[in-house]
Amino acid sequence: MAAYDPENIFAKILMGEIPSHKLYEDDDTFAFLDIMPRTEGHALVITKEPAADLFGITPEGLGKLMAVVQALAPKIKKAVGADGVLIQQFNGAAAGQTVFHLHVHIVPIKEGVPVKPHAGDMADPDDLKATAEKIRAVLAA
Ligand code: 5GP
Repeated sequence: MAAYDPENIFAKILMGEIPSHKLYEDDDTFAFLDIMPRTEGHALVITKEPAADLFGITPEGLGKLMAVVQALAPKIKKAVGADGVLIQQFNGAAAGQTVFHLHVHIVPIKEGVPVKPHAGDMADPDDLKATAEKIRAVLAA
């Protein structure tokens, strides 16, 4: 199990020290848009437990995290008009993990639209804002 650094970037987002396009929050989880989206609507669901990866969270916490992924993914898919949803989760740098605070990627997929590389280019801030508003409208409906 990897050590947890309480100063990691997602911990700072959770504490409100770094801004994010928040989509959802409850007592155990927080969801926001990925700043380097692979597709429109690429979101991250993070636990509030101090877990660096999948192996650092309690089974109960993992259940709560995945329940939020399950609930949010179809709404994000609908908001951006996607055809499918890729759910991804990386453990360890060797596996592609770049932020060591457990999170699950929700990546809406549109048929025929290429998926950008993982942790690639930063999105235009106006595009992220517009996407967050679209998703929040579906979540509020
Ligand atoms: P990982 O590689 O750890 O599975 O994914 C980390 C994700 O966090 C990447 O997709 C990356 O684009 C995203 N990311 C990194 N830094 C930030 C940030 O400061 N804000 C947001 N919203 N996303 C970030």
